[in-house]
Amino acid sequence: MSDLPLLRFLGRCHVEFAQDFSGKLADYIPELTKADPAHFGICIATVDGYVHATGDGYVPFTIQSISKAFVFAMALELIGAEKVESTIGVEPSGDAFNSIRLNADNRPFNPMVNAGAIACSGLICDAEGNGAFERILHELSRFAGRRLDYDSDVFESERATGDRNRAIAYLLRTHGVLRCEVDQVLDVYFRQCAVRVTAHDLAVMAATLANNGINPVTGESVLSPYVVARTLSVMVSAGMYDYAGEWGYRIGIPAKSGVGGGIVATLPSQLGLGIYSPLLDSHGHSVRGVQTCEALSSHFDLHLLNQVADVRNCVGAAYDLAGVSSRRNRQAGEQAILDAHQSSVITLELAGAINFGNMEYVSRRLSEAKSRALQAIIDFRRVSSVSQAAVRLLESCLDALTASGVTVTLSGTAHMASFSAAVDSWLGRMPKLHKAALLDEAVEWAEDQIIYLHGGYDRLREQTALADQALLEGLPAEAVESLAASMTERRFQPGERIIAANERAHSVLFISRGMVSVKLASGLRLATLVAGMTVGEMALLETYRSADVWADTRVDCLELSLDAYARFREEHPQASERIIRNLAALLARKLIVANRKIDALASY
Ligand code: GLU
Repeated sequence: MSDLPLLRFLGRCHVEFAQDFSGKLADYIPELTKADPAHFGICIATVDGYVHATGDGYVPFTIQSISKAFVFAMALELIGAEKVESTIGVEPSGDAFNSIRLNADNRPFNPMVNAGAIACSGLICDAEGNGAFERILHELSRFAGRRLDYDSDVFESERATGDRNRAIAYLLRTHGVLRCEVDQVLDVYFRQCAVRVTAHDLAVMAATLANNGINPVTGESVLSPYVVARTLSVMVSAGMYDYAGEWGYRIGIPAKSGVGGGIVATLPSQLGLGIYSPLLDSHGHSVRGVQTCEALSSHFDLHLLNQVADVRNCVGAAYDLAGVSSRRNRQAGEQAILDAHQSSVITLELAGAINFGNMEYVSRRLSEAKSRALQAIIDFRRVSSVSQAAVRLLESCLDALTASGVTVTLSGTAHMASFSAAVDSWLGRMPKLHKAALLDEAVEWAEDQIIYLHGGYDRLREQTALADQALLEGLPAEAVESLAASMTERRFQPGERIIAANERAHSVLFISRGMVSVKLASGLRLATLVAGMTVGEMALLETYRSADVWADTRVDCLELSLDAYARFREEHPQASERIIRNLAALLARKLIVANRKIDALASY
């Protein structure tokens, strides 16, 4: 047995419901009575294109009314919503599929009953003439992700006996809903119903609806999001005919059935279900198909209206500068300014798919923070999507915030092309809005603004004497002099590599002027260091360099080789112990910062 939980569940449904031989084969199309009542296949295609199949997932049968949902979608796409929506209604009729009744305007109630579906095929005939069926077959094949064909025996059988549909078509033509000849339209409609599919095909077709119109197996874009939403809504209201209300109440997943024994069901953003079992209940739905859908929905609680998300979960972390600082190491004077103005920057890290409710919550968090914070940073790196509604709310929220003097930086948006483009379009209009590639850059920029605002840069020391190095704090002057005597001056140009990862470490560098960045091979910045700080000091403990160090500006350093340090240690044992204590203190400070960061991330 498979170790995949969903497949195991489908397997259990299959074993259980396969025993049930209640229901009848459809017989009003004589050819359909040839189906094997034992056939039973269940397939589920996920939106990442994986298909679970159990039982007779690859047995072909005719699609029948399931085609209605997909041809309606195709008509909206090809002919346009205005024309289609003015020809066919979207109200549930509460009637059986083959009801010969139109609404008060003499239009079909909806595209899921035969009258609406025939009208829909008529629209395709108007648009495509003799090529109408070929076009339909082509479009259905795009949903299924493979070239489909049709069963000519079933087609002939229905054409020979389909007087009821003929009656419906004449009624439609009397009211001007059909413009092509009745026989021409019915020829297309009957062929479309006779298209041969498998449960596997239906699952992929349904998953294309679940995946916002993109076939998850082929990657082909078949429908626009507008059309997907409209198609699913008529499936909800009328897909299961006079059982639609009950279906929506109990199962709550948009679905469509066909008298050939198929059922499709779509759980948006998650999966598409295709079932084949030809024994039908009194409404014309596959008995085992309905049982399987009921079992799935109740066991996994898949009812679409059963939503338990909490809007607040979209804020993955929220903190000010007391919680998190940038990777830029600050000199004491700068750090003192930042410490005094910790709460003037608020950062919200968002996560997941951001919808209307999430962004409304975020907008309130930001508006609260406005009274104390001069700057806000919103990070989107862990966001998978931002809905259109959320984008509208955010735009209006940023308008208000920036107009009231708050500087806002949005970071980590690059992986969402259209959202990123929307942000770009706001930048010109909102002078206090900024964009940063990475959260760390946004935080560094925000810190810079604060330091600048409070005059920190005037006090910034561009050049540091060796005695002022944090690592040498507390050393007697004579020890510093002895160290200085054994050091070599090194100079680096901007962009030059100072230390390479994995190299053997043989020295410690004291920066006396300029700025350097410690980076991983991926380009991720671990730290930025300036005059008065050391690089490669881990050489005192470790044998190999753990990351690259690059000169950001022109850099002057004093280099202390490990050999020279060993000699110094012999001569000045107490001073060298002090150096190691200073190193421990610097590492401890880094650890405290790292712990604060973990705490800030974990407490939300
Ligand atoms: N071809 C069938 C008809 O029009 C389809 C009915 C159905 O599947 O519900 O009668």
